[in-house]
Order: sequence, then structure tokens, then C-alpha cells
Amino acid sequence: MPQDRFAQIISLCRRRGFIFQGSEIYGGLSSFWDYGPLGSLIKKKIKDIWWKEYVENRADIFGLDSAIIMHENVFVASGHLEGFADYLVDCPGCKKRFRIDKIEKIAPDLYTCPECAGEINTIQNKPRKFNLMLKTNVSATEDEPQYAYLRPETAQGIFANYLNVMNTYHKKLPLGIAQIGKAFRNEVTTGSYIFRMKEFEQMEIEYFTYPEEAAQCYREWVSERFRFYIETIGLKKENLRLREHSSDELAHYARACTDVEYLFPFGWSELEGIADRGDYDLTQHAKVSKKDLSYFDNVRDTRFMPYVIEPSAGVDRTFFAVICDAYDEEEVKGKKRVVLRLKPHLAPYTLAVFPLLKNRGEIVDLAKKIFYDIKEKMPVLYDDTGAIGKLYRRQDEIGTPFCATVDVDSVSDQKVTIRNRDTMQQERVEIGRIAEYIKTVKGTV
Ligand code: ATP
Repeated sequence: MPQDRFAQIISLCRRRGFIFQGSEIYGGLSSFWDYGPLGSLIKKKIKDIWWKEYVENRADIFGLDSAIIMHENVFVASGHLEGFADYLVDCPGCKKRFRIDKIEKIAPDLYTCPECAGEINTIQNKPRKFNLMLKTNVSATEDEPQYAYLRPETAQGIFANYLNVMNTYHKKLPLGIAQIGKAFRNEVTTGSYIFRMKEFEQMEIEYFTYPEEAAQCYREWVSERFRFYIETIGLKKENLRLREHSSDELAHYARACTDVEYLFPFGWSELEGIADRGDYDLTQHAKVSKKDLSYFDNVRDTRFMPYVIEPSAGVDRTFFAVICDAYDEEEVKGKKRVVLRLKPHLAPYTLAVFPLLKNRGEIVDLAKKIFYDIKEKMPVLYDDTGAIGKLYRRQDEIGTPFCATVDVDSVSDQKVTIRNRDTMQQERVEIGRIAEYIKTVKGTV
């Protein structure tokens, strides 16, 4: 996808109320973004689909909603306080700052600056370590501070509650705990729109299993999560790929890791990571909390630390991929048409209802009646703020699959004109049959 397409997508998201810059009226706060009325609708749908798929439709995974701010010792145990850092290096030529793991290495201590293409010698320009955690004071007084941290991943809330969940449910392995929520990282290399934010949202599962079954379980999760993006979310298969981490790229706690990558406008980048974390997390939390987190299997008569497989997805990156996948431009009668070909189950509205003539009371009344009747059955929008051509263009840009126009004849024949976003074809449909007509289009409601 060309770079100018990226600029067009950002502009559409701003113009139509999907995404706004955080704190915009005060000049903005870099790397923080707000979801507007349409963006928040799509984001909620993504989260609901994931939750339904893994928490509601399965018997082996349970939901959790843990606190964002957590005790310092959680991150002593997880290793985040010590090791969750980026190494940054400054280019001596253009003075820009980069993450060492994201720039091209041409010799052991030599890198190419992605900005000015000059050489960066890491013996002369030593990389410096920056911890990515955001710290806050939870004490009532400033002179006796008590520091705590905003979680950099939802996972730690799951590990900290593993024993609580096991004790309340008395469940057997394998068992998963799922959580959707905010995470915070003081990212240093930013500027990729909502791809890399300091406040973002994750959808994570920690799936606890037997050590000897972990490798197979990991492979199953990798294929399940790849399937989810294609079949459940509806992203184009050619824009998705799996990339397995090489051994020198693996985090110290991971036995294996595979990224689901999406072809974003700036190239292939991580959408989700699926890791086999072994027993690292439970062992560490057991050590620091001094609580016994081991599992006793009474059938096998053995006690051991469960292994964990972690599919960790980003809500915002999924949202971004959905918009990139759907964005399309075409020429219609010599004019450019921008259309967001969102899958109907992700579109903010399934239907928009318009009165053809705003000054004819009986047409407006009928259009409003249709709007209120259908509202219970699907997400619907009423709009009378422009001429019909303009209203269609607006709905194309926000991805509404259908528009129903109420005209003079509708009052007598009780039919409306339904226009299909993708084909632009129009059909007369009886008012009483609108919902049924729309439902016949695959995956609409
Ligand atoms: P990257 O290499 O891009 O920094 P990561 O490997 O650090 O990502 P993980 O720690 O594996 O990311 O987090 C799991 C998921 O959370 C990522 O796949 C991504 O979807 C999401 N995520 C992580 N960091 C951010 C961020 N700063 N902004 C938006 N989403 C993020």
C-alpha cells in the first residue's frame, strides 16, 4: 500500500470521527489518540467479537478485569522493572534517536541511520537504556511517596490473579484466563499513528497447560489466532502472514514465539504475538510473592508448575488493520469515490435512513418511524443534513453497507429505495421487509 494511502486513511479517520489526536484542543499530546463516535463503535465490536469467541463460546477460558495500576513487586517478579527497556542510539549526523533493534546492522557495531543513511558506530555512540514503564504515586502525601506502576501488558494482572481464579473455580488444566484492557508504555520511537501509542489496549489470554502438552498447545494457538483474523474478523488473507522468531530474537522468558503480521501502509508489522512462556511467570511470581502457585494433578499424582501459552493481541492495531483493509478508492462517473468496504459485522452502522425531501413532513415522519422501528434490530443512523448524493458519499466513507431513502412514493406504496454500498445498485423494498432483506446479505447482522 503506498505511503500517500496512509495519509488518506489518517485524514478520513479524522474527518469522519473515527480517531482524534489526544488532548487536541490543547495542542495535542504526542502518541495519545482518542476514538471518536465511529471509532469507538468499531473498537467495541472488535473487543466484543474476541470476548464472545474465547470467553463466552468456550468452556475452558474465563474472563478477568484487573486493575491497571499494580504493586511494584509484580514488576520485580515479571522482570519488567529490570529488563523492560529499549536501547536507544543517537545518530551523530542527523541527531535523530532510534531503537537499536529497529535499525539495520551492517557490521557488529555499525548501523545505517534510517533517516540520513549515515553510519552509526555504537562504540562511539553508546546505546542508552530507557525503561518503558510509567510510574505513579499512589500515596496520599507527596512527602511519603508510594510508587506503583501502570501495567505495560494486561498479562501481569492475569498472573497475579491465577491463584484466585484457580481457587474459586477449582478447575483442572488446561485452563485459560482472558482479559481486555488498557496497557501503558513510555514508547520512545513513536509517530506510526495508532500503531505505536503510549496508552493502548490489549486482548490477552494466558492459557495454562501441562508442560508436556505446551508445544502442541502453542502450535494450535498460532493457527487459531491466524484463522481468527481471516475468518472471524474478515481481513484479507494476502495481507496477513505468520513470522516465527529466531532463537536470538526470543525474549529471555520465551521458549517460542510467532507474530501474526499485517501488511500496514508502512510494511509488514506485528499485529499479535503468540508466545510459549514456559513456567517463567508463575515461577517468578511464586518466588517474589512467596505463594505456592504449583498445580497438583491428582490423576497423575504429581505437582508441577503449569506452562503458559500467551496469544497477545492489540485492539488498536486490529482496528487499524480493519480500516486499512477496507479503504478503497474508485472512479465513478469521472469522480473519485472513497469507500470503506468494512465487513458488515464491523461497520458502525448497518443501515442509514434518509428522507429525500427534508421539508415534506410526511416523508420525514415516515423516515423517522422506520429509523425507530429498525433500531432494535440493527445499528442504524438517521441523517437529513444534506442532499442525497452527499449523504450517500458520507455513508460510503464510514462503511455503512446499506442506505434506505424515503421518497414521495414511499408514503403511498410503503416501499423505500435500498442502495448497496459496494455495488451501488438500488432496489425497491417493502418497509416491513427491510430488516429481512438486509439479513439475506451474508454476515450483515
Ligand atoms: P513491538 O515489537 O511492535 O513494539 P511488542 O512485541 O513489544 O510490539 P507485545 O509486548 O508482544 O508487543 O504486545 C502484544 C501486542 O500488544 C502487540 O502485538 C500489539 O498488537 C500490542 N501493542 C504493543 N505495544 C503497543 C503500542 N505501543 N501501541 C499499540 N499497540 C501495542
